Amino acid sequence: MDEAAIFAVLDQVPDPEIPVLSITDLGIVRGVADAPPRVLVTPTYTGCPATIAIEASIREALDKAGFDEVGIERVLFPPWTTDWITERGRQRLKAYGIAPPDPSATAECPQCGSTDTEEVSRFGATPCKAQWRCKSCLEPFDRFKCH
Ligand SMILES: [Zn+2]
Repeated sequence: MDEAAIFAVLDQVPDPEIPVLSITDLGIVRGVADAPPRVLVTPTYTGCPATIAIEASIREALDKAGFDEVGIERVLFPPWTTDWITERGRQRLKAYGIAPPDPSATAECPQCGSTDTEEVSRFGATPCKAQWRCKSCLEPFDRFKCH
């Protein structure tokens, strides 16, 4: 089985909520396993509405690339954390105007880089983003919460 070719296909599968990110940028693809051939995927968090959409996109991309015999297996442990987002993914998030997740409580404004920011709402444009506001440039921005 051509693992690299499968990863190349997965590299092209966008995140349904943040299309600038691929699912490999997100770090949710844990690997490719044999017997039976399958892609191991860890959902960003239990109950994230995007999980089903992501799995459907993976299925479609695999089928299109001729990997219709490759299945998808959900791996729940260890649980996904934002630490799994790749460096490329973090840069893409920032370029898209979403503050990359940070273990600290403060978010860096994607517009001006200020850390003088505040959370306006736990719920941003989608269930997986919180709404923040920069106190320096007064621009609102989304912060990545789960995925
Ligand atoms: Zn700002």
